[in-house]
Parts: sequence; C-alpha cells; structure tokens
Amino acid sequence: MKVQYKPKRNLLETIFQVEILQGMALTLRKLFSPAITRQYPQEKPPMYPGFRGQHALVRDSVSKESKCVACMRCATVCPSRCIQIGYDEDETHKRVVNRYTIEVLRCVFCGYCVEVCPVGAITMTELFEYATYDRQTVFFDKEALLDNWDSFILKTGKDATYVNPLMRPRGVLESSLPSAKRLTVPDDWTIEGQYVGTKVKPSTMNLPSTTHAEAENG
Ligand code: SF4
Ligand code: SF4
Repeated sequence: MKVQYKPKRNLLETIFQVEILQGMALTLRKLFSPAITRQYPQEKPPMYPGFRGQHALVRDSVSKESKCVACMRCATVCPSRCIQIGYDEDETHKRVVNRYTIEVLRCVFCGYCVEVCPVGAITMTELFEYATYDRQTVFFDKEALLDNWDSFILKTGKDATYVNPLMRPRGVLESSLPSAKRLTVPDDWTIEGQYVGTKVKPSTMNLPSTTHAEAENG
C-alpha cells in the first residue's frame, strides 16, 4: 500500500501557520452556527407515543380513585413478578384494591401489564426521569402510581380515557378488545401490524390466524 504523505509546506505557509488559521476559522464558524446539543435537564427531549416510561395508575375522573378492579391479570402476566396487589371485598363482593406496588428496578418495561389490563387502569407514561439516590423512590406504591398519573396529565393535558395506541394487544380486532381499550384512539392511527383505528380495514392487516375472541371460544 502506498502511503500518502502531506506535501511539504512552502515558506509562506510556514510563516503564517496556515493550519492554525484554518482551525480558528472553523471554530469561529461553529461559534455562530445553531447548537445541536440539548441542554438537559433544562431542555427535555420530546417523547413519542409508545414510549414506555414510568408506570401510573389511572385516576378515575369521577371517584378520584384508581380504576383498578383487582382482576390480577397484570400481576399474573408480568414476567418479572414485580407487581403486587392486595384487595378487600365490599358488601356486593366487588373487589376494592388497597395495595398496588411495582418494584420498578425489576421491571423489564415489556408493557404486558398495560396491554392486558381490561379497564385501562395501568399505563406507562411518557415520563422518563428515574434518577434518584434512593431505591425506595423507584418502588412505586399505589399513591406514587396515582401521583405519576397526576403529573402525567398535568404535563400532557391527557385525561382519564387516555389509551396509549401502541400499548394495545397487537393484531386483535377492535371489536374483540375490552371497551376501555377502544376509547379515544385517533382514527388515523395506522401502525403496521397494529389494528388501532376504525379506518383500518382488517383485510389490509397482517392479522394472526386466531383472534382473542376465537381463542376464548376455543
Ligand atoms: S412492564 Fe412488564 S415487567 Fe414491567 S411491571 Fe409491566 S408486565 Fe411487569
Ligand atoms: S389488570 Fe388492570 S384492573 Fe386488573 S389488577 Fe391489573 S391494573 Fe388492576
């Protein structure tokens, strides 16, 4: 391989140290060009739909309590076994959740808990800042999860009917989804392989051979 050496500098280039001048010109140009670095934490990056951030328990806008009905599906499906739920039964045998914890340091952010919840009670928000000096801060109890929801809707203007379109079971017909999962999803959501809007025809989708409804009917 032939090695290319830089041609020798002539006398003028040596006297005026042209490389230094070129370097200074580059510095000057960059000084007045727009910055491409973000000044975090003063300047936050935009979060996109489907980002799996901090968990939150959705607060019912009427009762101001969690929408959770303690069906235990999320705790059952969680591959990390990091969700713990406790509940009481009222006089009509309706379950009332009294304890809901997520040990976030064990969570793998798969989103299964959100997908499986039939009433849209648990969600993953676009809040992403976890940095803390204290493990307890990321051991979310029921109040912390409800607080996460309050912060989320305060920051984003979402309401209690919010359903993250990217957190719905993939390839399942809308009519097969629990009613809480059909709410407030914009019609123009057309993510490939995901049926989330009424304008998307099932025939144009890559649906699995068995839908949830068929699976349930055996
Ligand atoms: S995101 Fe996955 S791992 Fe984390 S709590 Fe939910 S189901 Fe469990
Ligand atoms: S799946 Fe939903 S309703 Fe059922 S226990 Fe979990 S959060 Fe509550």
